[in-house]
Amino acid sequence: TAGTPVIAVENVTVRFGGIVALDGIEFDIHEGEILGLIGPNGAGKTTLFNCLSRLYTPNDGDIRFNGTSILGEPAHRIAGMGIGRTFQNVASFSNLSVRDNIRVGAHSASRSDPVSDALRLPWVRKGERDIDARVQELIDWLELNEVADLPVSGLPFGTQKRVEMARAMATEPKLLLLDEPAGGLNHDEVEELGKLIKMVRDEKGVTVLLVEHHMALVMSVSDRVVVLNFGRKIAEGTPEEVQKNPEVIAAYLGGD
Ligand code: ATP
Repeated sequence: TAGTPVIAVENVTVRFGGIVALDGIEFDIHEGEILGLIGPNGAGKTTLFNCLSRLYTPNDGDIRFNGTSILGEPAHRIAGMGIGRTFQNVASFSNLSVRDNIRVGAHSASRSDPVSDALRLPWVRKGERDIDARVQELIDWLELNEVADLPVSGLPFGTQKRVEMARAMATEPKLLLLDEPAGGLNHDEVEELGKLIKMVRDEKGVTVLLVEHHMALVMSVSDRVVVLNFGRKIAEGTPEEVQKNPEVIAAYLGGD
């Protein structure tokens, strides 16, 4: 319904023993938006990402997806609900071909457990044609035809990242959570990644949360940026607004 954010983060607090990793965090992600989440080391970005992907449960607060709390859902059901994610360490099935990696994602869209799907992949026959067609569409869309039947492990790192994006897109997400996708990429590969993130939103209508250290990437692709520091939200706004915010500048200069 109009006005309901895709994600509503409501007063989310996470403690690890005496450490308050997240302290009453609040923000929305709107439909079709690319939202960047940044902050110095230890700010709480990974902790929040892990809450959104249901690896952690907040001590306090709620996270709503299309208006419904996800906190009762186990992590393995998140993909089936329409929340896709990428992993920092790409090529978790690196001995498999590009096509089979994307197929793993396509299976997890219709089934609930990506890990067991991967294990039983060679024997799955039901709905295979349908899934093959969906996988081929993604291979065409992301221009992976030349490498489609090669193992992921031997491919350039930038291409591996593209495969990881394709695998996540094969889950047919409404929301895509990107966990530091620029890590380990060179300048040209980061530019290519930026285009890819925009394609995902512009051509597929997917809402994107981008957790990232690479400032130039975040500032060039995000519609809005949320800034964390020591577990608190210190700023939220357009890239222009956030970059001239004195508290943000101080957090980065004083950081590390
Ligand atoms: P980085 O950019 O370095 O990845 P981050 O913004 O992702 O940092 P988090 O990893 O979320 O930050 O960490 C936030 C705080 O919570 C830090 O003080 C960190 O030491 C602490 N923390 C994170 N995970 C745990 C854990 N499993 N147990 C104890 N403390 C943790």
